Amino acid sequence: MPSVRCMSLREGSSRSFSVPQERRVATALPGPNSLALQARRVASVSRGAGTLANIYMDHAAGAVLVDVDGNRLIDLGSGIGVNTIGHAHPDVAAAVAEQATKLMHTLFTVTPYENYVRVAEKLAQITPGTHEKHSILVNSGAEAVENAAKIARRFTGRRAIVVLDHAFHGRTNMTMAMTYRPWPEREGMGPFPGEIYSVPVSYPFRDGLTGEEAAERTIDYIETHVGPRDVAAFFAEPIQGDGGIVIPAPGYFTRIAEYCRDNGIVFVADEIQAGIARTGAWYSIEHHGDVVPDLVCTAKGIAGGMPLAAVTGRAEIMDAVQPGGIGGTFGGNPVSTAAALAVFDVIEREDLIGEAQRVERTLVSRIGGWTDKYDVVGEVRGKGAMFGVELVEPGTRKPNPALLKHVLKHATEHGVVPLDAGSWDSVLRLLPPVVISDALIDDAAGVLEEAIESFQGVGEPGITPAS
Ligand SMILES: *Cc1c(COP(=O)(O)O)cnc(C)c1O
Repeated sequence: MPSVRCMSLREGSSRSFSVPQERRVATALPGPNSLALQARRVASVSRGAGTLANIYMDHAAGAVLVDVDGNRLIDLGSGIGVNTIGHAHPDVAAAVAEQATKLMHTLFTVTPYENYVRVAEKLAQITPGTHEKHSILVNSGAEAVENAAKIARRFTGRRAIVVLDHAFHGRTNMTMAMTYRPWPEREGMGPFPGEIYSVPVSYPFRDGLTGEEAAERTIDYIETHVGPRDVAAFFAEPIQGDGGIVIPAPGYFTRIAEYCRDNGIVFVADEIQAGIARTGAWYSIEHHGDVVPDLVCTAKGIAGGMPLAAVTGRAEIMDAVQPGGIGGTFGGNPVSTAAALAVFDVIEREDLIGEAQRVERTLVSRIGGWTDKYDVVGEVRGKGAMFGVELVEPGTRKPNPALLKHVLKHATEHGVVPLDAGSWDSVLRLLPPVVISDALIDDAAGVLEEAIESFQGVGEPGITPAS
């Protein structure tokens, strides 16, 4: 068991963190030390690793990042949904430190160890459905998705992989091909593998369809473009992340899962961004009724920042692969799995699923009214600590990427770090750690309001843009 430290400090509503949970901007952002690091970075790091804000971080706790100039920033991104339980949780740090002194690597497929088995046991327990489940552990989300595709093809003996419009599944060759938008993830980097088909999703803000209508459109596309008997797997993010926090309409996945079942198609939930307590449930598919995926991909939030990912699913599907057919050198390494076990423990002990639900209530009451207040906000939607703000041209549904760019610049210059999203780069994405306080949400929302109001041509006449 991971050792328990500072537990009393973190219990209940008054959590305590090693960094004050308050924004403090003491220098221009980026500050002088960040600028110096940026100069070295440009001289040594590929520009292909693009950056949202060139503010270099030194340490963090809870929902506050501290940069190399001593500024404290509110983290509304969690490193894209990774630090769900908050930065620097002492239990996770202790579990990692202890494991690192004990056993760092053997390779599970050479000589195994208990942590890997314990993570697989836990995943079988928390993923939807009561059937027998088996898991494989790997290093990254993309690797989990690729493995799920391999496993589904091996199980079905079929070729085609169906994905949804606006999906994000990763940056390896296979998962680039499964990812919707060409820029910046794909351009100039083909050729890509074939037999991957993108079909229309349910995107209520843009298509106005009910879940049933959108599902029929999706199914019709499969029938007329692919042929269901050639489809090995249907991949879906139950709440799309990079695609813009797109939440398919009620009933959509019920019908899709039924169609998959009737046609022998493996239904794969990519829960890499939305899973592990982020949305106020262990997995975001739980918001779509009692839909049970055949396979579930987990990554990002599973190990508090350590690299770990998993495919979990029906034992007969997972075991269709011959021994040696899936695996990898670092997959499920002892330290990452120790971190994951500590994360599971913290989520349960500190009721972080309940905390994500609290974040949802606070966000709805604090920013839900933006659609009435601003004619450039088309919709505010989300579950738990996973929200999207659809930015539009005034009074229309036309995407407004210029506004998103402005909001991100203003926010990061004022000590708030949100994320971008959407196929048109026009969805402001909020993925804070679920331990973020209501006061921090309120302060961050105020900065985002200033950002929206200071966008040229928007807001009440006479509003002075914040400096
Ligand atoms: C981030 C992400 C991936 C890819 O994960 P990596 O760890 O970056 O490879 C896949 N699917 C979804 C939904 C993601 O958010």
